[in-house]
Parts: sequence; structure tokens; C-alpha cells
Amino acid sequence: TAFDRLNIKPFLLNAMTEQGFKKPTDIQERVVPGILKGHDIIGQSQTGSGKTLAFLLPVLSKIDPARNEIQAVITAPTRELAQQIFDEYEKLTPYFPEDQYVRAKTVVGGTDRKRMADRLKNAPHLIIGTPGRIKDLVNNEGISIFSATTLIVDEADQMLDMGFIEDVDQVASRMANEIQMLVFSATIPEKLQPFLRKYMNNPRHVHI
Ligand code: AMP
Repeated sequence: TAFDRLNIKPFLLNAMTEQGFKKPTDIQERVVPGILKGHDIIGQSQTGSGKTLAFLLPVLSKIDPARNEIQAVITAPTRELAQQIFDEYEKLTPYFPEDQYVRAKTVVGGTDRKRMADRLKNAPHLIIGTPGRIKDLVNNEGISIFSATTLIVDEADQMLDMGFIEDVDQVASRMANEIQMLVFSATIPEKLQPFLRKYMNNPRHVHI
């Protein structure tokens, strides 16, 4: 399969070609079409499998840049992981046409709260951050994510180990009533099930 079978936006297709990526990885091939169709997906694959682009490409394709509101939220357990996701996003931005530019911002710990809230007033379409900080911003800084309809939970098993599932749950509860949830995790521990059952609607399980 080539990238052009995945139905991602043409400028993202161009970004793949320009970066020298010849074809989608297994996880990309198996989750991108389902994400574009709106399915909830549990993806089990390791770092290095191309999983970041597996969710970034379809999520960036689904975002409507003409709507100046937060449409998707990506959560990761650590500041470093959130930054890595942002870095992958940033590599794509040179290929964004001006009139279709998708703005993303990071929301991580260690940054001054007020400054962060100010930064977010410049209406990003996508936020990428740690769940505790996103929760804090929504609860205490008046940033609304009710317009967001897609939630990505990356490294969900680590989130569980670090005690962050409660925060992710709160973030999810502040989003739109109907959300598409995408969960990526190396393992799916039994303890994660209540959270998955609460938010996921007939999820497809993709194991690489
Ligand atoms: P990840 O699993 O998301 O940490 O990605 C691992 C690395 O693979 C990243 O540096 C990506 O830029 C790269 N990558 C992602 N998708 C592809 C692809 N389809 N072909 C070649 N490299 C890729």
C-alpha cells in the first residue's frame, strides 16, 4: 500500500513524499482508514513502529482549519513524550498551505500557567500535552475544550502506572459529548478496562 491509498490530505501526502517516506508502516496502514471513518481504536504497537504519524496524519486530516477552535486533544504521560509528538507535527508544518494551516500548541508542566493560557488564546486547532496540565488549564484558566471531538491517549499503560488515568478521564469529560477516542499502548492492562469501557464505543483493536 502506498500513502495515497490512505485518504489523508494532499499536503500531508506531499509531506510524506518530501520526507522520503515511501510507504506507510503496518500500524499506519491498519489504523489510518479507521480513524478517518471515525472509529474508536485501540492500537497496540511499540515506539518506533510509526505510531505517532499513525494518529497525527488522520487527525490533522480531520481538523477543519477554518474553524478557530480546539478540535483534537493528544495526551501523553510525560512532558518529553508530548514534546516528541509536537516535534513530529512540526516536521509536517512546512508543507501546510497557508489557508489550510493546522495550529498545534503544547500544554505541559513547568510552563507558567498565565503565559500558557495567553498563548492558547491564539486559538490552536490541536493541543498536545500531559493530562494533568490540560486538566488544570481547563479547570482553572478558562480554556474550553468542549469543541474538541477527538481524544488521543498515547502510552495509556504508562498513564495508568503513573496514576494519570483520572486526569485523562477529567479531560475527556470536558470535551464534546460525543468523542472519538484513540488509545495507544504497548500493553492493555485489565485495570485500564473501566476507563476504556466508559469512553470507547465499539473499539477496534489493532495489534501489531
Ligand atoms: P514512532 O513510532 O512514532 O516513534 O516513529 C518512529 C520513527 O519512524 C519516527 O522518526 C518517524 O519519523 C519515522 N516514520 C514514521 N512513519 C514512517 C514511514 N511510513 N516510513 C519511514 N519512517 C517513518
